[in-house]
Amino acid sequence: MKILVIDDSRAMRTLLAGMLSDLGHEVLQAGDGKEALDVLRASDGVKVCLVDWNMPVMSGYEFVVAVRADARYSALKLMMVTTETEMEQVIRALEAGADEYVMKPFTQDVIVDKLKMMGL
Ligand SMILES: [Mg+2]
Repeated sequence: MKILVIDDSRAMRTLLAGMLSDLGHEVLQAGDGKEALDVLRASDGVKVCLVDWNMPVMSGYEFVVAVRADARYSALKLMMVTTETEMEQVIRALEAGADEYVMKPFTQDVIVDKLKMMGL
């Protein structure tokens, strides 16, 4: 499955990309929401985005709002990757159309469970 990891932290992107690659997924990466929208436009078949909250240029929340306003991405699943202190923002993101969230720090098993919960 094709998965887009969106985070301004290269270390976090590398960690997530490694876990997902180990699980057999194809991983694309973006450093902020705007770059992620560009990646989505340029690539077919992305099934799910793992979305950081705090990012420059375009935040995770703004990205969720933009994706949910675009009918082309109605089947795209969105999972917030967040810290405990960002819980309130997570609720906002879920209200804006995010499907799931995972709390940092997380294990590969947690990622697998959350993907299953989204029917993937
Ligand atoms: Mg960040």
